[in-house]
Amino acid sequence: MSTLRRGISSAAAGAARATAVPAVLISVPCTRTAIHMPRQAVPFGASPLLVPARRRVPGGLMGRQSFHVLAAAAPAVAPAAASTAVLPDAIVEKAHGFTLQRTQFVKEYGSHVLLYKHDKTGAELISVLNSDENKTFGVVFRTPVDDSTGIPHILEHSVLCGSRKYPIKEPFVELMKSSLNTFLNAFTYPDRTCYPVASTNTQDFYNLVDVYLDAVFHPRCVSDRRVFEQEGWHFELDNKEEPLTYKGVVFNEMKGVYSSPDSRYYRIVQQALFPDNTYRHDSGGDPEVIPNLTFEQFQQFHAKYYHPSNARFWFYGDDDPVKRLALLDSYLKEFERREVNSSVETQKLKRMPRSVTEYYAAGDGEEGEQKAYVGVSWVLSDNPLDVETELALGFLDYLMLGTPAAPLRKALNDSRLGAAVIGGGVDDDLKQPCFTLGLKGVDPADSDKVEELITSKLKELATSGFSASAIEAAINTIEFSLRENNTGSFPRGLSLMLRAVGAWIYDRDPFTQMQWEDALSSFKSKLASGQDVFGPLIHSLLLDNHHRVTVRLLPDPELAATTEAKEKARLEAARGAMKDDQLDAVVENTSALKELQETPDPPEALACIPALQLSDIPPTITKVPTSSKALADGATLLAHDLFTNDVLYLEAAFDLRSVPARLLPLVPLFCRSLTQMGTSSESFVELTERIGRKTGGISIYPFTSAVRGKEQPVAYIMVRGKAMGGKSADMLDLMRDILLTARLDDRQRFTQMVAETKASMESGIISGGHSYAGKRLAAQRGMAAALSETMGGLSYLESIRSLAKKVETDDGWQEVKSDLEAIRSALLQRNGAIVNMTADAATLSAVEGQVSDFLAALPAASAPTANAAQSWSNALLLPRTNEALCVPTQVNYVAKAANLFQDAGYELNGSAYVVEKYLGNTWLWDRVRVVGGAYGGFCSFDSHSGMFTYMSYRDPNLLDTLGTYDGSADYLRSLELSKDELTKAIIGTMGDIDAYQLPDAKGYSALVRHLLGVTDEERQIRRDQILGTSNKDFKAFADAIECVRGAAGRVVAVTSLDKAKSVLDEKPDFWEVKKVL
Ligand SMILES: [Zn+2]
Repeated sequence: MSTLRRGISSAAAGAARATAVPAVLISVPCTRTAIHMPRQAVPFGASPLLVPARRRVPGGLMGRQSFHVLAAAAPAVAPAAASTAVLPDAIVEKAHGFTLQRTQFVKEYGSHVLLYKHDKTGAELISVLNSDENKTFGVVFRTPVDDSTGIPHILEHSVLCGSRKYPIKEPFVELMKSSLNTFLNAFTYPDRTCYPVASTNTQDFYNLVDVYLDAVFHPRCVSDRRVFEQEGWHFELDNKEEPLTYKGVVFNEMKGVYSSPDSRYYRIVQQALFPDNTYRHDSGGDPEVIPNLTFEQFQQFHAKYYHPSNARFWFYGDDDPVKRLALLDSYLKEFERREVNSSVETQKLKRMPRSVTEYYAAGDGEEGEQKAYVGVSWVLSDNPLDVETELALGFLDYLMLGTPAAPLRKALNDSRLGAAVIGGGVDDDLKQPCFTLGLKGVDPADSDKVEELITSKLKELATSGFSASAIEAAINTIEFSLRENNTGSFPRGLSLMLRAVGAWIYDRDPFTQMQWEDALSSFKSKLASGQDVFGPLIHSLLLDNHHRVTVRLLPDPELAATTEAKEKARLEAARGAMKDDQLDAVVENTSALKELQETPDPPEALACIPALQLSDIPPTITKVPTSSKALADGATLLAHDLFTNDVLYLEAAFDLRSVPARLLPLVPLFCRSLTQMGTSSESFVELTERIGRKTGGISIYPFTSAVRGKEQPVAYIMVRGKAMGGKSADMLDLMRDILLTARLDDRQRFTQMVAETKASMESGIISGGHSYAGKRLAAQRGMAAALSETMGGLSYLESIRSLAKKVETDDGWQEVKSDLEAIRSALLQRNGAIVNMTADAATLSAVEGQVSDFLAALPAASAPTANAAQSWSNALLLPRTNEALCVPTQVNYVAKAANLFQDAGYELNGSAYVVEKYLGNTWLWDRVRVVGGAYGGFCSFDSHSGMFTYMSYRDPNLLDTLGTYDGSADYLRSLELSKDELTKAIIGTMGDIDAYQLPDAKGYSALVRHLLGVTDEERQIRRDQILGTSNKDFKAFADAIECVRGAAGRVVAVTSLDKAKSVLDEKPDFWEVKKVL
């Protein structure tokens, strides 16, 4: 029953874990997750929210990065209303070649769950029936590997590049352009490959399913070597005089992964924990090994594993259950049953602890700075855990590590042995559960101390146990998270599928994964009886378990150069071994491949992709029910009457413009300090436990955005919380206590948060450099972006570095402490405050009085700070220059931007969304990714500020990519789209505009629109403009983006020092070179 543990790990918001790679990075701005580049670009500029990354990321897809993603991310629905427990008449025992094996009503999700077997092939299907309109489909193959050439990952990319029924270059991209999907992507795990889609539109859903089924069973890539070369690897040589290079999308994607020390660390841990089974290899591909892969091996792998007898299928939602069977059978009936040996061997537990030392590519580092990663990991068992042990382990993990106040996490933080916790506890995405915990930013001389600290703290907890209040808080938090089932922008059906597959794939019972109610209630009684549940568990799974590995990852400033030299030597050797005619062949192949990639599919061929009609799109906007009320002293109350399953979602927003500019870099840490130092009457631990007991969580963060047509941005501090309706008063009491009486004087905790922030930003810039580059460019042009840069970009990192030094001295700390108080007194006032609530009508009316009491407790107006916003002058803007931000990396992130409102006099028209998406999915995708070999290339238009930004992700090129950007306007002008193509582009855009949302997201979106002054009238105008987009609009937009190529355009790239300098050889004075790491 790892359901519960999974539920728990997402509840334990901080614990980052997960094990797969998406095929396309839908560029999630500055996320720590950026696993493998989703294809769809969610433009960073369009969501100028400074929201903590983890809030945007579905719990299941965080952190560990052992999986690869083809593309990624869409928004969140009302919980599936519990349907009746009586099996609907529509269920058939036998149909379309399937026979029903089992049925069960799962009350936790109001769903009938049916297990079918396909008679002819033995393929299994789980068919979930409920009222959720966000329908989900998935097919999963077991794909264990015996080397690190990355076959399953390259295959995952390649099968989506054309198939028997859809014989075009990239059906996947066509679907991104033209479907209403709420999810479209693919993941490679260490032992399986997973292809999920989702949509709320039934016809659209079937279209997606059909394209995916044809892709996995009849892909073009197994007969066309060029797909393998494009997505995997090939030699590139434009003419015989030039040096040979490697190209390939996965090749570069993995170079990016291997440049990130965090990713390296988790890869080494997995390989060290499982020396004897498939997990000792990297299914994503090691860039040094990928070029050993041959096309023949690639073909054989597909033939062996992509077979119905090795497949598990999943359907979920409110569509016709019989139609599902028919659809699948139309593909499966062509195959014969076969034995496919794909099971994952169990790693036998070793009796002796081991240790592994490896190195990562570091910059020269500041003087005296040491940055080792040190952690301890266990494989917890070589037998599947029973339901009760799994449940207990989930609770144990949450109690030890689930919050910053949890004792084991707190001990690591307080130790000052390192900058930030890594690992974060239990990981159950693979066959055997593991546990990893450690620190990064450690002095290598202290590495033994990290291990000693972890074991001694575990011993202590095994003896002392946990306080009753901690256990109560854990129970409430975990239950809340399970019942709320808030999967954010991730479809609920997909979250449930990943959970079920986690057992199903290992031939364990997938049904138990979905049922937690009974086990939870019996576990609660056991806890209530006072039985020592946790002590024995800490002993048996951790302390007395010697299958333990200590992993040290040490900095090596030479490694980047060595790696590059090794690659060069391999290429030279390969070249040396080639005869003259072989070299000719490589040159010929390079140009043939490019020509193929640059030739678009003819419109007749593209017509094979099924598409909806414009008449399928509702012509009017969907409104979120909103009532607005002016409260005393200039406060406003917004309320949204939506079904939320008895949960109240509430945001209180305070205007940040009362805070003087010089204090802005402290604001993010001020927000964190509010919940992490305790209040006047309770300690940090007590406060954290009260939050856990009474609510589903409280978070505080700055929010900024440009407002179209205005020079001044909006900027707020958001205090955001959720609780069961009956606990609303407790939540508001908590918010009041936090705002008014939170202590801001815990020097040790503050110092720790500074170190943590620094470490996370330093890894972020290596793994997600595009968002730093984009922020930097926007901050040259607008105040809102300048605020974002100050509170979250490279400028913020610079402030954090000096803050780290400042808090070391007593005088410095005194100053910081009084600055934190100054922020509070400038910020806190009910004047101008906005409270936003989302719940059903009864809850809303019950809460209204409590909100008035909450506001009445705050000062009416803040201490006068002489109109602080005036200090947010243009001095905050960055100078308008080109910059190279240098870090140790094997890949580049290249951004170029200008402001269409200011530089081109562009007036916003809804068609801009259509053109922007089209440009990203055609010209930029084809040239930057397909031809250029980068993992991603996209553009984003911020319709509030006017910034238009091109970005590339894990890109081997620099100047060539800029050349592609500069060709965009001419490309758009050259287009003459047929009516069909235009319709597809419009529908694809509407899919983004009408993105599926859970009720909390609907209420929050309404708040954001209120803050930005976006009315329903305006939304309707934009919608009409989108629906009416014509070829003329493409040309008009081409004229607008001409300014990016022209004098107004600026470039910022995250790259290596060597590459930055080599650009200067070619173009002296091109940019300022700035060493960041
Ligand atoms: Zn990938």
